[in-house]
Amino acid sequence: MDLGLNGKTALVTGAGSGIGRAVALAFAAEGANVVLTDLKQEGMDETLRLMRQAGSGEGATLIADAGSPEDHQRAVDLAVERFGGLHAACNNAGIGGETNPVADLSPEGFRKVIEVNLLGVFYGMHAQIPAMLRGEGGAIVNIASILGQVGWENSSPYVSSKHGVVGLTRSAALEYAQKGVRVNAVGPGFIQTPILGQDQAALDHLASLHPMGRMGQPEEIANLVVFLCSPRASLMIGGYYPADGGYLAK
Ligand code: NAP
Repeated sequence: MDLGLNGKTALVTGAGSGIGRAVALAFAAEGANVVLTDLKQEGMDETLRLMRQAGSGEGATLIADAGSPEDHQRAVDLAVERFGGLHAACNNAGIGGETNPVADLSPEGFRKVIEVNLLGVFYGMHAQIPAMLRGEGGAIVNIASILGQVGWENSSPYVSSKHGVVGLTRSAALEYAQKGVRVNAVGPGFIQTPILGQDQAALDHLASLHPMGRMGQPEEIANLVVFLCSPRASLMIGGYYPADGGYLAK
């Protein structure tokens, strides 16, 4: 199925690893030009190398902190200057952050997760939406989590940030529904990426929590993100779409 993204421009935050890398590759496979942002250059270089190996759309990289409004604006400016506009964005950069019961959490630890995972999505949309409105319109997908719908012990900063992403997504979606910018959220179950660490026993336990009996792969999230960003998803506005191997159906 042609998703209609050929020659369009997409922006992906946290594109040097895991889900962000898979999303960038999936956009490129559709012929889109992709602006990649992340904290470090190396991961983005590897994503670019994989894009070129696949012989797909062009890429440009920018070191950018998701917690910086100025960095998001620089990323949007890069998309406009290099590729002529911005049609799609995936606000994906995120951290797990401090894990502790509420009474033991440090305020700085809580604040840091909110800054990257929730304010980062706000700063992203704040910069991306005007560029889309100036152009042909567009679509934004914010990466939430199953933990944007249910709780998880000892991770209240992360859980709060992801619940916030869902609310922010719905509100923004209402604001721009008639203006040509669609906003949606995707809720991954546990996905095999570096964010989960390398303790095999812990990973096996996480996998067992999914009715499907395994964790997801980044590509299984990327497929959904790129579809939601495409004109094929024209009726999809303000949704929270889980891709979680049945986790939330329990
Ligand atoms: P990942 O492999 O760790 O990738 C996250 C990327 O974001 C990394 O390259 C990371 O850089 C970057 N990043 C971290 N803080 C940043 C900041 N302040 N500014 C810019 N980039 C930053 O993790 P992932 O699993 O792909 O996670 C991507 C998104 O999916 C996150 O929002 C996460 O919460 C969400 N998610 C993941 C899962 C899962 O099970 N994997 C489930 C649900 C939702 P560094 O490596 O240098 O920190």
